[in-house]
Amino acid sequence: MKHVVVSAKSQCGLEDIDDPQVAQNYAKIKIHSAPLCTEFHQFLDGNTGPLGGHEAAGEVVDIGPSVNTVKLGERVVVMPQSGCGVCDLCTSGDHIYCQNKKDPKAICDNETGTATYAQYCVQQDWLLVPIPDDLSYDHASMACCGMGPGFNAMQTMQVMPTDTVLISGLGPVGLGTAAIALYRGARVLGLEMNTYRIDLAQEMGVEAVIDPTSDNALEEIMDLTDGKGAAKSVECSSVDTAPDFLVKAAARRGQIASPGWGGPMNAREINGKGLTVHGCWHWNHQRDTQAMMATIRGAKSLLEKMITHTFPFSKVQQALETRANNQCGKLVLHPWED
Ligand SMILES: [Zn+2]
Ligand SMILES: [Zn+2]
Repeated sequence: MKHVVVSAKSQCGLEDIDDPQVAQNYAKIKIHSAPLCTEFHQFLDGNTGPLGGHEAAGEVVDIGPSVNTVKLGERVVVMPQSGCGVCDLCTSGDHIYCQNKKDPKAICDNETGTATYAQYCVQQDWLLVPIPDDLSYDHASMACCGMGPGFNAMQTMQVMPTDTVLISGLGPVGLGTAAIALYRGARVLGLEMNTYRIDLAQEMGVEAVIDPTSDNALEEIMDLTDGKGAAKSVECSSVDTAPDFLVKAAARRGQIASPGWGGPMNAREINGKGLTVHGCWHWNHQRDTQAMMATIRGAKSLLEKMITHTFPFSKVQQALETRANNQCGKLVLHPWED
């Protein structure tokens, strides 16, 4: 099969490598849609070698001897990361927080198989989420990082039409979160500086976007929320100062959900305002699969705006350059297109 390899600073291409093999409860997936996430940092740094990737949707083409939850030919979303499969977190759908994650390469005796910038990957059967027939691979693949963490945030905070949601960072994760909040009928405000993404967010229906570095940013949020602050906010920027800015911008008794990986928050202010903070790395695929797929179906017109580019595998260099210069929404690679 072909997979993506970084050859030098800001240079990548395709190389041939043996297909990954299955064992135990692992299935082999022919990847049709591989969304781009944070891997462009490795590309920019020139950290040579295979480029990872942890988001994919595709078709089951081989199964290990103890696979029992998926069939050959089934269309699935590949959940990111691994899990032991037996702890309370794994069995309740929160495998992302598992403390004893398995090593698929060692179990299947593969050189590769975990990276999704490739034509095939392997994953345990219980970490493959079936795709309803009416959803495309591109849209279904948004159940990885495009909409996954934001979906957790919306579920956890029970966002509904009467809510105003403030989203910090309107990159791919923030736009995905905005799509879900808008689909739920909420009023959405954003914090962002990138003009391409501000325009895109407003085209999707985000009411106002504030520059978080402006001296008036807090004042503007207060003006937009009747002087109370944001009752529900989501940190998607991973900028170090962003989480604490959301603490300052929060309404009393408000909630902050964080798919982002930014810096510290002020506990004194969290306590003084009675805030609740939720970690939202990924979504719960035991409890919420139907709701996630219904959201993808319902938010289709928003996803069509949010996915700004798709690239055949041969254009992976252009895909990474586009992702790295941030003139894009969510990007998807098609490993079987030339
Ligand atoms: Zn586990
Ligand atoms: Zn990701």
